[in-house]
Amino acid sequence: MPALKASGEDIPPMIIYGKGYLGGGGSGIGRAVCQRFAAEGASVVVADVNEDSANQTLESLPQEHKGQDHSAVGVEVSSRESVEKLLTTIQCRYFQPPSVCVSAAGITQDEFMLKMAEADFDRVIQVNLKGTFLLTQAVSRALVASGAPKGSIITVGSIVGKVGNIGQVNYSASKAGVEGLTRAAAKELSRFGIRCNCVLPGFITTPMTDKVPEKVINKMTSMIPLGRMGQPAEVADACAFLASDDSRYITGVSIEVTGGLFIG
Ligand code: NAP
Repeated sequence: MPALKASGEDIPPMIIYGKGYLGGGGSGIGRAVCQRFAAEGASVVVADVNEDSANQTLESLPQEHKGQDHSAVGVEVSSRESVEKLLTTIQCRYFQPPSVCVSAAGITQDEFMLKMAEADFDRVIQVNLKGTFLLTQAVSRALVASGAPKGSIITVGSIVGKVGNIGQVNYSASKAGVEGLTRAAAKELSRFGIRCNCVLPGFITTPMTDKVPEKVINKMTSMIPLGRMGQPAEVADACAFLASDDSRYITGVSIEVTGGLFIG
């Protein structure tokens, strides 16, 4: 997939909200995206609320292509100030805005709706939905201001945003919002050459799903036509396609990466 690489040594950075997994041998979707993009020749900016985990992701990135320059930055996506600081840090280091942005930061605060605290609803919306808005806005503003000919913004929703899930009214609402935001942004930004698309993972083996009780995982797995949970690298594959020119005529869509869960 050569289109991820810029020509010559001028490789624009890409912000990936990277997961640094702090224990065990697993890793999250953001980290897998960072690794895939780095393998493709991108200069990757790993951004995460946890700087230690961002640095761990940074250390895992291949740097085999000429001109690649990865970095790790701490960011709180629900804070405008923090997101703006991230963009400033990137522009100072790379002298250009990111050409690709993957918003993979996300949290869950699960509880049955009848018991859910207002603060748990608000926090999930703040991180998952507002965070995606702030980052999408900041990156697209920077791209438009720089006169860049194109950009690819990739948001991470969830199949749960389409079908709902018990104990996740906050999360389901935030992810449905991410899809709507992505479609609206695609309409607004296409005239600037910026494409916006969403990936909708199903059940992917990451620290987020490690928290789900085993009996729920087993029940869900039995409903997946492909018969297993997904791997972070399989979501990264879809992101790599959306980041590349192979998807140059695709904007405003959602790609389900679910093993067929909830189709039809
Ligand atoms: P994960 O392993 O928990 O990764 C999420 C990352 O976001 C973590 O590194 C987390 O840092 C970071 N983060 C949390 N709050 C943040 C904030 N306010 N600002 C910046 N970074 C923040 O989860 P994942 O499974 O890889 O999920 C990645 C994305 O995929 C999320 O948007 C999730 O909703 C979505 N998704 C996952 C699945 C799945 O089955 N795993 C399914 C559908 C959608 P800390 O760890 O330090 O909190």
